Amino acid sequence: MKVSQVYKDKKDKKVLSFEIFPPKKDSELSNIDETLAVLCELEPDYISVTFGAGGSSNCNRTIELAKKIKHEYHVEPVVHLTSLHYNKAEIDEFAKVLSEAGLENVLALRGDKNPNFPEKNDFSHASDLIAYMKEKWDFCFLGACYPECHPESGGVINEIRHLKTKVNAGAEVLLSQLFFDNDIFLRFQEYCRVADINVPVIPGIMPVINAAQIKRMITMCGVAFPARFEKIIHRYEDNKEALFDAGMSYALSQIIDLLVSDIEGIHLYTMNNPLVARRICEGIRNII
Ligand code: FAD
Repeated sequence: MKVSQVYKDKKDKKVLSFEIFPPKKDSELSNIDETLAVLCELEPDYISVTFGAGGSSNCNRTIELAKKIKHEYHVEPVVHLTSLHYNKAEIDEFAKVLSEAGLENVLALRGDKNPNFPEKNDFSHASDLIAYMKEKWDFCFLGACYPECHPESGGVINEIRHLKTKVNAGAEVLLSQLFFDNDIFLRFQEYCRVADINVPVIPGIMPVINAAQIKRMITMCGVAFPARFEKIIHRYEDNKEALFDAGMSYALSQIIDLLVSDIEGIHLYTMNNPLVARRICEGIRNII
């Protein structure tokens, strides 16, 4: 099923989706079953599978995992696909494999610039990938969005202008970068509506559960840490169990605040951690 339809069918209910990443080695693919069993038991509306930069083994693991989710666990998968390091022929090959496997949903991305992988010049932006694939293939396309602006966008006006191009090219759902300040997301969602971007703009939530993860987020994502959140991190950064509890509670309060606002769903970055997903789902079981 196309996930654009999932949002249309849900009406007053909110859509719950998870993100997972494929194991690093093919030999670990069978071990992912333990994680999937718990995640799927929580009945997400769909699960998106990330895509590593460059290299065919990365593509294969993403596809294999997506096929497993669809055909063994009967949950709808969304396949992430980056385009900066691929040419049109390679994208066609990838699309053919997806289509033959019955996979219907693609999160179309440009991908990060990476000096280890040469850029090919067929797709400069995610919107180019969507426009190209849409001509030939019948997938539902999702796109990424950045409530605190992508580092290369040059500010919020460009951010929204480029997002509009992405939606005009055919993105039917937008999944957001993680954030910790709901006001920033809700303001961004308003900018989208003002710009006539009328597809679901779905907040991406990542519960903070360890100190290493926090450091990575500060360097990689450039997201704002509200004072309330900083206090929590500061207080519990040296106590693993307490930080886990506090991080989960913060994420839950963020989700509940969003659910009572005008949003159509929640996208949970599970980090392949079934405990995280379970705890969040238990916290919102009677709310979502
Ligand atoms: P684009 O939408 O192409 O935007 C990239 C930059 O170009 C932005 O600054 C944008 O403002 C600008 N831009 C866009 N269109 C134009 C235009 N027409 N003219 C001028 N400038 C323009 N990365 C992975 O490698 N694997 C993954 O699985 C993955 N999953 C992700 C999932 C989500 C929900 C998110 C939010 C990000 C994910 N990423 C992933 C990261 C993503 O690949 C990077 O953030 C990347 O740098 C940008 O990708 P994009 O598709 O958003 O690019």
